Amino acid sequence: MRKLHPVPPTRPLHRKPLGDALEAVAATQTVLPDFVPPSLSGRPAEVTLMKEALQQLPAHQAVLPTSISVQNSFENLNVMGYNRTALGEVVMNRSGWGMHDPTNFRGNVLQEIGHSVDMQGGLAGSIPGLHPSNSAPFGQDPFVSDYAATQPAEDFAESFRVFHQNPDQLRQLNPEKYSALQDLEKPNFWHQWGDHPALRETGRFISQQISEFPWLRSGLEVFRQASILLTLTGSVRELTEGLKHDRPLQALAGGLGCAAGLGLALTYQAPLLGLAAVALLGARQELNRQPDQEANLSVQAVVAAAGAGAGALVGATVAPLGLTELGYTLAGPIGGSLGLVVGGLAGTYLGSRWGGELGRGLAANSKDSTEAELRTAQAA
Ligand SMILES: [Zn+2]
Repeated sequence: MRKLHPVPPTRPLHRKPLGDALEAVAATQTVLPDFVPPSLSGRPAEVTLMKEALQQLPAHQAVLPTSISVQNSFENLNVMGYNRTALGEVVMNRSGWGMHDPTNFRGNVLQEIGHSVDMQGGLAGSIPGLHPSNSAPFGQDPFVSDYAATQPAEDFAESFRVFHQNPDQLRQLNPEKYSALQDLEKPNFWHQWGDHPALRETGRFISQQISEFPWLRSGLEVFRQASILLTLTGSVRELTEGLKHDRPLQALAGGLGCAAGLGLALTYQAPLLGLAAVALLGARQELNRQPDQEANLSVQAVVAAAGAGAGALVGATVAPLGLTELGYTLAGPIGGSLGLVVGGLAGTYLGSRWGGELGRGLAANSKDSTEAELRTAQAA
């Protein structure tokens, strides 16, 4: 006779509603196409120049910095500005050499945005090898300026500036850099999908409203990256605990969380990873709701998880876009903003919940037959 473990009492895995909610917000923030242009602050003439610089860029690059401001307080006149790329904060130096000249001012703004285009994705952008300036043709002769030769990141930013202000000069000097920048300018499927008038108008409205509070956008970005880090560390702990105490469901949940955290961190490098991450988070959420059946980790968990993943995916992408469009049609940018927030949060949560329930329903038969098998075997 086959020896079978008795079915252990059903016990849900460790539940963390707050952690789940934080992850849902971070995932939605990561997966939604970015359509909020940077908040601009400075004197009216400076803001006009910043807008002119931004208008030279395709939408998916223009939205990369979170804020652009101008300050008087720089001591070094040779510093034209700086970019806290992890947060997308660009600060220009009003008293830098030549900043009174409009072409120069626009060029320096473009140079700083070039750093944002290079170092996309916050923390992950700072991992060597993941950003364009880290490989050829950047960092190699010929350079557009002496400053470009100082380091590869400055070569990228300087080339970016010249690409927009004097394209023929770059094409003649260094065709490889020219075509690399041309490739980065092309919107991908994801950028195009999010490119709707309702989203653009709503994005502009949100950007204007929060230009008084630049910390709010940096804060959201810090929050997103912290949530990703927490997802990763919590999942590693869950995975090791699960392996140590021989709890397959916990180990699986931890593994899904680790993969999801990595996917979220690398979304800017590969948008599909962000989508997969949302699916994995939905899958793990559903696993956490499943009763614990440590003795028998079967297909049913996988089917329910896949359903939750697909649901979360649809919810986190379709609901925010759909509700933003609807809200915008009904009540302009204010309605659009409301639709975005409601759609983002509710879509991720409900999508994974309904998808998971559907998956669990589909898998119910397989569960019944497993239990029947167990009873038969025990009776024998
Ligand atoms: Zn620079």
